[in-house]
Amino acid sequence: KSPGHPPLAIESVAKHFGGITAVDGVSLSADAGEVVGVIGPNGSGKSTLFNLAAGGLKPDAGKVRLQGIDVTGWPTWKIARTGISRTFQIPSLFINMTVRDNLLAAAVEGDWQRARDRMEDALEMLEISHVVDNLATELSGGQQKLVEFGRVCMRDPKVILLDEVTAGVHPNIRQIILGAIQRLRKTGITFLVIEHDMEMVKEICDRLVVMDQGKIVAEGDFETIANDTNVRKAYLGR
Ligand code: ADP
Ligand code: MG
Repeated sequence: KSPGHPPLAIESVAKHFGGITAVDGVSLSADAGEVVGVIGPNGSGKSTLFNLAAGGLKPDAGKVRLQGIDVTGWPTWKIARTGISRTFQIPSLFINMTVRDNLLAAAVEGDWQRARDRMEDALEMLEISHVVDNLATELSGGQQKLVEFGRVCMRDPKVILLDEVTAGVHPNIRQIILGAIQRLRKTGITFLVIEHDMEMVKEICDRLVVMDQGKIVAEGDFETIANDTNVRKAYLGR
């Protein structure tokens, strides 16, 4: 670990898909325990930015550093071991495996007992202990999102990226997710959250970053963002 380096620093990353510029020179860093909201209209590059940070995609330009370590272009598994873990907009569970096996399969430690302890903590925090022996396919969409979050916790991350984790879930599940974020941030875990639920954003985010057409067009606290003309333009189109 390098004290003095932020847990996550994204530096001028860019990604093109053919003629489309999905992410166009984005820089963003986050401190330990900070919750940063990434918002913006559909297609503005939010999920691509997460892919670039977590190793699902290699940036065409720019760098990603975790605690000062340059992880640009590293494969996802290696980045996950270095401390960044994400959820997907569509949960990426093994649907014909139990919740238990889905969680244990995500464990990074070779020590079985520690993995099981970590699983018990995640099950309790996410209130899914009662479905631990159910197949993932038997769960509701919201419960699948909780298991997806649990899989992230199994990797002992320093930085967690949540991609629309509360979209379409029951209010009870939303509350569980909110509680888990609050609890984990107190342990120093950094969060980047892509979130459309503005109540949730207002409640949990220390800072917001607004993307439009691959660029950050505004940054600040909720009040600042709510009154920003660039943000209105981004959402209303041009
Ligand atoms: P958001 O998450 O903000 O809705 P995305 O990052 O998913 O936005 O997409 C940003 C832009 O990049 C969109 O125009 C989208 O169509 C395009 N895009 C994303 N992923 C791919 C891909 N794998 N291939 C081609 N185009 C992509
Ligand atoms: Mg997206």
